[in-house]
Amino acid sequence: MKLVVAVKLLPTPEQAAALAGTLRTTNTAATWLAEQAQTAARRGRTELQCEHYPRVKAVCLSAQPALHVIRKVADAYTTRAANLIAGNYGPKGSRRRERVESSPIRFRPDAAQPFDDRCLSWQYDTRTVSIWTTAGRMKNLCYTGSADQLKALQLRATEINHQISKRIVVEAQRTAHGIGLEVLTGIRERVRLRKPQRPALHSWGFHQLGSFIEYKAHRAGVVVVFVDAAYTSQTCRKCGHTGRANRPNQARFCCRACGFVEHADRNASHNIAARAAKQWGSGAQSAAPAPVQVLDVTRLRAASPELELRAWPFRTRQLTRRTTHV
Ligand SMILES: [Zn+2]
Repeated sequence: MKLVVAVKLLPTPEQAAALAGTLRTTNTAATWLAEQAQTAARRGRTELQCEHYPRVKAVCLSAQPALHVIRKVADAYTTRAANLIAGNYGPKGSRRRERVESSPIRFRPDAAQPFDDRCLSWQYDTRTVSIWTTAGRMKNLCYTGSADQLKALQLRATEINHQISKRIVVEAQRTAHGIGLEVLTGIRERVRLRKPQRPALHSWGFHQLGSFIEYKAHRAGVVVVFVDAAYTSQTCRKCGHTGRANRPNQARFCCRACGFVEHADRNASHNIAARAAKQWGSGAQSAAPAPVQVLDVTRLRAASPELELRAWPFRTRQLTRRTTHV
């Protein structure tokens, strides 16, 4: 089911300029591509992508927007072909129809450009979006809308958290795993985060996902272990070396001692899972006979809204039990 919600962005003058520039750039690319498509024998998305992707990407400056431009042009030609067949531009041989058929489709500089989850993310509690622009990622862009539209957005976010938590718990149950989550309470005081990171960790959606996982896991008899996540983002999961310098930027983990490189959230999630396994092995819960395997999701959720379940089993020193991360 497609959910349509209309919201209005409230950009600052600077943000408005970046958004307008983004539309101009993507629509320039779309118009250029439409000219190429006009003379092409086949105008499907695949053909256009095979032929023109590098050039479109060079103009758009990014991969995902380039793919949206290609789809936009392919869709526009499909719609035009359907309209021609339906006779919406007049009968065959008519002047209007010939004019439409013989000229490439053009896109207004401010024509709509689609954004997906990789280019646009919602922070419902602060009522802002983070959006890709040709001037870089723009965060804290405010939006507003009517009360029922905003409510619909919130419900959608809740629905996504229900789906994700369900998938995680089902996967944990199927493979006899436990789930490791980081303790979020008190994180404000303990962790020094750079500003752009804060909304992700403290957002309402983040806590909601954690609580959904907790109650679904409880219902399914799956173990959930909460761990202190201090330094998990600075610690190398391969060699254990800890240091701020291991984290050159938000996304990247690069160990200064052993050279191990990974997505920072993925590295941290392995550390959280290892801590959870250790805690489980040495804690009060160790009396329980069930084999424990640990899935950590908390950090990955911050990095990728469309969380994919992926598992990497490994052994820990304390346990012969398998431990897994997502
Ligand atoms: Zn290392």
